[in-house]
Amino acid sequence: MALKSAADIELDSPLRALPGIGPRRAARLAEAGFETVEDLLFHLPFRYEDRVRCTRIADLVPGLPATIRARVLSPRLIRTRRRGFTILRALLDDGTSAIRAVWFNQPYLERVLVAGREGFFYGEARAAREGMAALAIQNPEIEMIQEGAGEETIHTARIVPVYRAVGGLGARALRRTIHSTLAALGDGIEDFLPSELRRKLSLTWRGLALRGVHFPPPDVSLDELAEGTGPLHRRLVFEEFFLLQLGLALRRRDAKREMRGFSYRFTEEMRRKLASLLPFQLTRAQKRVLREIREDMEGPSPMNRLLQGDVGSGKTVIAALTLALAAENGLQGALMAPTEILAEQHHRHLARLLGPGGYGVDLLTASVRGAARQRVLEGAASGETPIIVGTHALIGSSVRFARLGLVIVDEQHRFGVVQRAALRAKGYQPDTLVMTATPIPRSLALTIYGDLEHSVLDDMPPGRQTIKTLMRSEEHRERVYEGIRRELERGRQAFIVYPLVEENERSGLRAAVEMAGRLQKGPFGDFRVACVHGRMPRDARDETMLAFSKGDVRVLVATTVVEVGIDVPNATVLVVEHPERFGLSQLHQLRGRVGRGSEKSYCILMVAGAISEEARRRLEVLVSEPDGFRIAEQDMRLRGPGDIMGTRQHGVPALRVGDLVRDAGLMSLARREAAALVGRLPAGETQLPRALRDRLARRWRGRLELAGVG
Ligand code: ADP
Ligand code: MG
Repeated sequence: MALKSAADIELDSPLRALPGIGPRRAARLAEAGFETVEDLLFHLPFRYEDRVRCTRIADLVPGLPATIRARVLSPRLIRTRRRGFTILRALLDDGTSAIRAVWFNQPYLERVLVAGREGFFYGEARAAREGMAALAIQNPEIEMIQEGAGEETIHTARIVPVYRAVGGLGARALRRTIHSTLAALGDGIEDFLPSELRRKLSLTWRGLALRGVHFPPPDVSLDELAEGTGPLHRRLVFEEFFLLQLGLALRRRDAKREMRGFSYRFTEEMRRKLASLLPFQLTRAQKRVLREIREDMEGPSPMNRLLQGDVGSGKTVIAALTLALAAENGLQGALMAPTEILAEQHHRHLARLLGPGGYGVDLLTASVRGAARQRVLEGAASGETPIIVGTHALIGSSVRFARLGLVIVDEQHRFGVVQRAALRAKGYQPDTLVMTATPIPRSLALTIYGDLEHSVLDDMPPGRQTIKTLMRSEEHRERVYEGIRRELERGRQAFIVYPLVEENERSGLRAAVEMAGRLQKGPFGDFRVACVHGRMPRDARDETMLAFSKGDVRVLVATTVVEVGIDVPNATVLVVEHPERFGLSQLHQLRGRVGRGSEKSYCILMVAGAISEEARRRLEVLVSEPDGFRIAEQDMRLRGPGDIMGTRQHGVPALRVGDLVRDAGLMSLARREAAALVGRLPAGETQLPRALRDRLARRWRGRLELAGVG
C-alpha cells in the first residue's frame, strides 16, 4: 500500500486520506459523525491548557492542577497479584524538588517513561499520605519531550488544546492529527463568506480562525478561549449560524414563491363583526400580531408564521380571529392541538367566542366516534363546517376538507415538521400559523422555527395580576393549608398539582387520589375537594372539570392535566407538589392557571425533603421571575437546549460549535445578515457565490430541498 501523503488534502477529503487513519478508524469516526477533514477540524478543544508557563515542583500547591517540566527518575512497573493490574511508579525531578508520581493500569507507559528523559506532566498534586507534607501526583498527563522530533510545538511550550476523544482517537492523537492536517492544508482554507460581510462584521479569516482555535497564538486571551467568546470562536460560530440561517432564509423565500389558489379580502364590515364578538379590546400586541397575520393572508403566497406568547397573553383569541377571517373568505380552518384535553378546551373556547357570529366549530379527536365522527367528517369534506378543532386525528387519512385554507398548530413542542406538513397537505397551499404554548428563547426559536416568520405577543391583557410565587417545605405544610383555607373562605378556589412521573404513573395517580381523600377529610373538610387525572374516563373528568369551573368543586387535586387545561378566573392558589420534577417552563405554564382573574394569586412550590442545590437554584428562578421568556432562557442556560425540546425532529442540522445560550446574539445577527443576502438576490435565481453555495449544500447534507441549490 502506498504511503498516504498529507500533501493533497482538502477540507472535503474523506478522513481516510489522512496519514494514520485507516478504513477501520475512518468507519468508527463516521459513526461518530465525522466524515471529512473539515468535520474533524470542527471538533474543537473543550478546554485549553496553558503550558507556556510551568510550575516549579517546589511551588506546587496541593489540589491545584499544574504543569511541571521534569526528568523521570527510577521508573518501576509493578504487577500486582490481581490479574492484569499494574502500578507504575516514578520520581519526577525538576531541580527545585522532586515528587512521586504513580500511574495505574497503563503498563505501556513503561516504554515512554524512560529514566533520565524529560517531559511535561499535568495533574493535581496531593499530600502523599494523610497529614504529610510530602506531595504525590496520580495519573498525570504526560508529554515527553522528543529531541529533534519537532513535537514541542504541538504538545508543549504553548497553549495546548485538549479534546474529547472521538471514534477511538484520544486527546493526544487528535492533537497530533489536527496539527498535521492544518499544516498540510496550509493556505488552502478558502473563506466562503462574502468579503463585504466579513469586513462589515470584522470577522477573522476562516483559515486563521480554524488554526487559532486549535493552536492559539500566544497573544490570545485565555479566558476568551476557555469561554469560546473570542474572535476566533466567534468567527466559526458565526459561519455555522450563518449557513443555518441562510438555508432557512432560502426556504422561507421558496415558500413565499409558492402561489396560493385563493386570496383573502378583508372588509370594514368583517372587522366590525369580529370586534363585536370580543368582550374586550385587543391589546396593542394582539393588534400588531393580527395585522402581521392579515398582511400575510392578503399576500399571494401562503403564510408561514410562528406565534409566541406567554401563558395568558391571548394567543387563543388570535387563533379564533384568524379562523374567523378565513371563514369570512369562504375557506375552512383547522386547529390541531397536542392533547385531547387541550383540543377540547380550544373547541369550547372557540365555540363560545365564535358561535354567536354564526361560525360552526367541530371537534375531532380519537374519542369522537360513531355517528358523531361521521357527522364531523362529512361537515369537513362538504365544506359545510368552517372550523375544525382536533388532535393529530386531523391528519388521519379519512379526514378530507373541501376548502382548507388555514392550518393552525398549537404545538407545545410536540409536533414536528412532518405532522405540520401532513395537515397542510390536506389543503392547497393553506396558510399556516404555529402557536407555541410555552415561550422559547429567541435563539432557539430562530433555530427550530427558523423557516417561519415570527410574531410575538409581548404584552398582557389588562388587569392581569403577577402571581406571588413561594417556595415552602414540609414543615410549612400546615401553614400553607391555613392560607388556602382563608382563600376558600373568601370564596376562592385552589389547584393542587401532583407530578406524574412517567415510569411509575400508577403510584403518581394513587398519590393524587389519596391526597384528595386526605385533604377532604382533614384540612379542607368544609369544602368540596375533587381529583382529576389522565386515566379517568373522559366523562368523569369532564364532569369534575366542569364542576370546578362552575365553582361547585373548590379544591381540585390534579396531575399535570391542568397544565394545558382549564381557565378558572376564580382560582387564586396553585400548590405544586414535588416541583423539582417539572421543567421550569412547565412550572411557569402551570402557574398560569391562576392569576387569570383580578384577584391576587399565589403559586406555592412544596419542596418535600432534600433537593439538590441545583434544583433549588432552578426553582428560585421561578420565584423571582414572572416573565416566561426569561424563564425559558434560564431553563435553557441551566439544562441546555436539548432538554427543552428535541431539535433533531425539526429537520435542521445539529450545531457543532455554536451554543444557543452563549452565542444567542450571534444567531440574531446571522439571521439578519442571511435574510439581507437572500433579499438582494435577483428574483427567480439562486445567485449565491459558488463557494458559499457549496458550503451551504454540504452543511445541510440534502436536508435543504431548495429550488436551485445543492
Ligand atoms: P393564551 O392562549 O395565550 O394562554 P388566551 O387567549 O387563552 O391566552 O387568553 C387568556 C385569557 O385572557 C382568556 O380568558 C381570554 O379571554 C383573556 N383575554 C385575551 N385577550 C384579552 C384582552 N385583550 N383583554 C382582556 N382579556 C383578554
Ligand atoms: Mg390558551
